[in-house]
Amino acid sequence: MRRRLFNAIALLSLALLLASAALWLYAWRSPTLKKLSDSPAGGSSVSIDAGRVTYFHYVLDADPVTSQLLRGAVLPGIGGRPWRNAGCALEWRRPLSIAFGGGKPSTFGEWTVISVPFWSLIALSAPLPLAWLARRLRSRLRGAAGLCPGCGYDVRASADRCPECGKRKDEG
Ligand SMILES: [Zn+2]
Repeated sequence: MRRRLFNAIALLSLALLLASAALWLYAWRSPTLKKLSDSPAGGSSVSIDAGRVTYFHYVLDADPVTSQLLRGAVLPGIGGRPWRNAGCALEWRRPLSIAFGGGKPSTFGEWTVISVPFWSLIALSAPLPLAWLARRLRSRLRGAAGLCPGCGYDVRASADRCPECGKRKDEG
């Protein structure tokens, strides 16, 4: 049961690993910004660029003219810009404060950014598939050497089960 769970999670990890690597390559060739929603009240976008995936969300509380200006000029820039050089970025519900014409900054809503570099997704998802692979390899090598795949006990003289741990000799 625990073994099955481990295998399932290792498989999920592998899927995440492959997806991250594929997205990384894709983002490197063609940086993409996709709007998920866009209205006078706010919007959100997902972008892949500069080795990272970024989610951006904003809520607007401004008069129609300012709202139009922000949506057209300021917000895509915030959502699409490569967030930081390295590391993850989490900016949660920050005030959207802008000073027009050198005056005092006013707040027109709030914004949120979650930005994760692909390398960190890969670092996060690699250990489990590697552990799975190492386990497979060890059990194969033990089997080939006439040892129990589970515990390494010498089972050359045993029938079909390991006398130490009860595992079947041909079980991976
Ligand atoms: Zn054994």
